[in-house]
Amino acid sequence: MDLLGRLRSVLPHDTVLTGNDMAGHLQDWWGRQQGSALCVALPRSREDVAAIVSICAASGHGIVPQGGNTGLTGAGVPVRHDNPPIIVSLSRMRQIRNIDPANGTMSVDAGCILADVRTQALAVGRLFPVSLGAEGSCQIGGIISTNAGGTNVLRYGSTRENVLGLEVVLPDGTIWNGMKGLRKDNAGYDLRHLFIGAEGSLGIVTGAVLKLHPLPRAHATVWLSIADPARALALLNRLQTACGERLTTFELMNAAQLAGVIACQPALRLPTEGPWHLLVELADLSQGEALETMLFETIGAALDAGEITEAFPAQNSAQRAKFWALRHGTAEANRRSGHVLSSDVSVPISAVPDFLASASSAVRASFPQADIVVVSHMGDGNVHFGTRFAAGDWQALTDQTGTVLAVRRIVNDCAQAHGGSFSAEHGIGRKLTAELIERTDPAALLLMRRLKAAIDPHGIMNPGCLLD
Ligand SMILES: Cc1cc2nc3c(=O)[nH]c(=O)nc-3n(C[C@H](O)[C@H](O)[C@H](O)COP(=O)(O)OP(=O)(O)OC[C@H]3O[C@@H](n4cnc5c(N)ncnc54)[C@H](O)[C@@H]3O)c2cc1C
Repeated sequence: MDLLGRLRSVLPHDTVLTGNDMAGHLQDWWGRQQGSALCVALPRSREDVAAIVSICAASGHGIVPQGGNTGLTGAGVPVRHDNPPIIVSLSRMRQIRNIDPANGTMSVDAGCILADVRTQALAVGRLFPVSLGAEGSCQIGGIISTNAGGTNVLRYGSTRENVLGLEVVLPDGTIWNGMKGLRKDNAGYDLRHLFIGAEGSLGIVTGAVLKLHPLPRAHATVWLSIADPARALALLNRLQTACGERLTTFELMNAAQLAGVIACQPALRLPTEGPWHLLVELADLSQGEALETMLFETIGAALDAGEITEAFPAQNSAQRAKFWALRHGTAEANRRSGHVLSSDVSVPISAVPDFLASASSAVRASFPQADIVVVSHMGDGNVHFGTRFAAGDWQALTDQTGTVLAVRRIVNDCAQAHGGSFSAEHGIGRKLTAELIERTDPAALLLMRRLKAAIDPHGIMNPGCLLD
């Protein structure tokens, strides 16, 4: 029996998709990469996943795990191949297994949608803090496998800091049950960290124990204009000194980035004018006006010190939602306006202004026809530095691939020169495999290869992703 036949013999017929039924699984979020697969398998349980993996392991067939397919580095979509891998989509594994508010944990299937998990936590008066623009589609297995960051890292850390336990189907089909909800567990190597951020290259995450936090009862949100990123740095330090852990959000955007958002969503309006904008939010466990007072006093002092040019506080939850719509609209704007070459670098927080200045002037010197669009989780030193070509300028380029590589090199060299990383929160995927080899310490690269070989000796898990 061939592989398809063997898969159909262990899974119900409607859970193995082929032909046109696979279409939605074969294109990346940008719409730029079109892949191929033998089939898409839609398991309903970890046992189904283990059966699929065992069948593929027996014949050394490649497997690409897929969550919500919102990843930005092409990691969840196989490239065209003579012997195309199978995609294992977790989208039918959506059970909330258990919520333990007293322990501050929620156990879930890996296919649960991030927004649903956040809503379930809210229903028991708790917060699951990982939040990002794609939360209505991305899955828990996907955010774990990319170690997604998002807009709350400043206060709560990345996904890694919010996962206590994991269940993983290993490349030979064995199920590893690490579903522990413990804050302390030094019984040997902490294996969960191997799989967090592994981009499906070491196994398929089927379940997770997530860490829940006390639910903030009050938010104070303000939209600000500033003259330049150096002033944003001064303001960040002022806010951290005055407000401590209450500062949850500090997001920097330039005017060109926000013009793209408004062009896509004309109903939105910019609350303030200026070349640079900040979305700042404080959160606190106790209700009342103390939080707003704290924010207003700090912002007032920053206005007096010339760090801010204009401030517009959110008067109510509807206005707060509009501020967030501007921030969360940036990725979609970059997908739809012209051709944006995006990057995801990190530098020390103190180096963000210098990095932005040097990367901007280097890109402009080589590509004067392009705009620079910036959206930055500045509180984490993470910059999404985009080089935007108008559609006509992009079409007019004689060497588009060469341009992609040239822009990438300029931006990543600048990040490296500032002590940074070429991949802050989106991972390596298929986009940055050459950079990983070029820019990683050789000893670290060797260790990564040894780990991959030890756990997946036949290289069946997400071939071509992360370690090519
Ligand atoms: C509008 C938008 C905003 C975004 N904002 C942010 C942001 O602020 N911060 C940030 O960090 N990222 C952001 N992202 C990218 C982010 O990486 C993804 O949204 C999310 O983490 C991926 O989840 P997914 O379920 O869609 O995974 P997919 O895209 O399906 O897969 C991503 C990777 O994980 C692997 N994978 C998926 N599920 C599993 C599993 N169960 N087991 C093993 N491997 C698996 C895949 O093989 C692939 O390597 C954004 C994306 C979009 C489209």
